[in-house]
Amino acid sequence: MRSISVFGATGSIGESTFDLLMRQGGRAAFRTVALTGGRNVARLAAQARALGAEVAVTAHDDCLPDLRAALAGSGVEAAAGAAALLEAADRPADWVMSAIIGAAGLAPGFRALRHGGTLALANKESLVTAGPLLLAEAARHGARILPVDSEHSAVFQALAGEDIAAVERVIITASGGAFRDWPLERLARATVAEASNHPTWAMGQRITIDSASMFNKAMELIETREFFGVNPAQIEVLVHPESIVHALVGFADGALMAHLGAPDMRHAIGYALNWPLRAALPVPRLDLAALGQLSFRAPDPLRWPALRLAREVMELRGLAGAVFNAAKEVALDSFIAGQVGFMDMAGLVEGTIDKMVTRQSLGNAATSLDMVLQTDAEARAVARALIGQEKD
Ligand code: NAD
Ligand code: MG
Repeated sequence: MRSISVFGATGSIGESTFDLLMRQGGRAAFRTVALTGGRNVARLAAQARALGAEVAVTAHDDCLPDLRAALAGSGVEAAAGAAALLEAADRPADWVMSAIIGAAGLAPGFRALRHGGTLALANKESLVTAGPLLLAEAARHGARILPVDSEHSAVFQALAGEDIAAVERVIITASGGAFRDWPLERLARATVAEASNHPTWAMGQRITIDSASMFNKAMELIETREFFGVNPAQIEVLVHPESIVHALVGFADGALMAHLGAPDMRHAIGYALNWPLRAALPVPRLDLAALGQLSFRAPDPLRWPALRLAREVMELRGLAGAVFNAAKEVALDSFIAGQVGFMDMAGLVEGTIDKMVTRQSLGNAATSLDMVLQTDAEARAVARALIGQEKD
């Protein structure tokens, strides 16, 4: 029986993963090792009971008593805190879903690679902050990383049976998010509620706001570069409001292979869960005649400066991705807290990169996870200082 763990089980990706695990037989089909979550311990406990998990871990120490109470009599162990998350990752599992949000997801996923199984990677921050390190760790332990971002799953599927040397370009699509059609001058006054309203995908709040600013697509550019090893110049972003074509791969003969599907993350999660086979998935089927047409346009650089920043990060490489992600997380937190405006986020990220570039050579490759985490912490401090200056 296949053993599984889900990090970030109570989030948007985590819930979709749980749904598929239950539909594919639940505890009769999978031996669940660890499930982790945050403050929603009632939901974490319910999932752990349903799947008969060995251990349930909340990221917050103060939530442990509630988690214990919710698991009473279930036989599921309860644990809390960052060290417990790593301990959960040390428990061998054949298939591990990495769906914690943010840089916090890096260390548990990295640790799980040691077992040489499959890491289903939704946590794009892992590739953005530490791509080469993560891939080297996987290779060292004979582990496999399968992409769970919809665009990267689409590219992966379009590449099946193909020679990567024949790839001319990779095109990832973007819905354009909440502000795709807003007049530019209105963006500076955009509120958190307005940015949290995605036109096509139902996702967690943070990635939804990142879709409106295109920081999500910026991260995905870097993710594409790291995961597939293609040159930045070969990667394009195309705005596609319908979110039906998730990515396209162009080959040397001019052929473009597109991946189409309903905007439902259970598609990419289910592909990673059943790979190399395809299993029936409960996703809506497309009715192309009813859709009538699909549209595409080039992204507007003034509306979405994050895309240009991602290109700079891909040029710098090394630790630049860790700085970019950390600054982006601080900028997003500050926007959500009402401290900075929507259009200030890109300036903050750019300012943080500029400051960090002069301090150290960001192009130096990270040689350890600690180095990445230290750079992450430094970049957060720089970004927070920049916000402090702006408020004065
Ligand atoms: P979410 O906010 O809905 O859920 C995040 C999960 O991580 C929750 O279980 C939460 O409790 C946990 N978590 C949050 N902070 C944590 C911390 N500091 N330590 C430990 N656990 C913590 O996020 P999501 O939308 O499901 O996204 C998860 C990841 O998948 C992200 O990296 C995101 O970019 C990626 N992703 C999401 C989608 C989507 O449709 N939601 C699509 C593609 C990629
Ligand atoms: Mg995506």
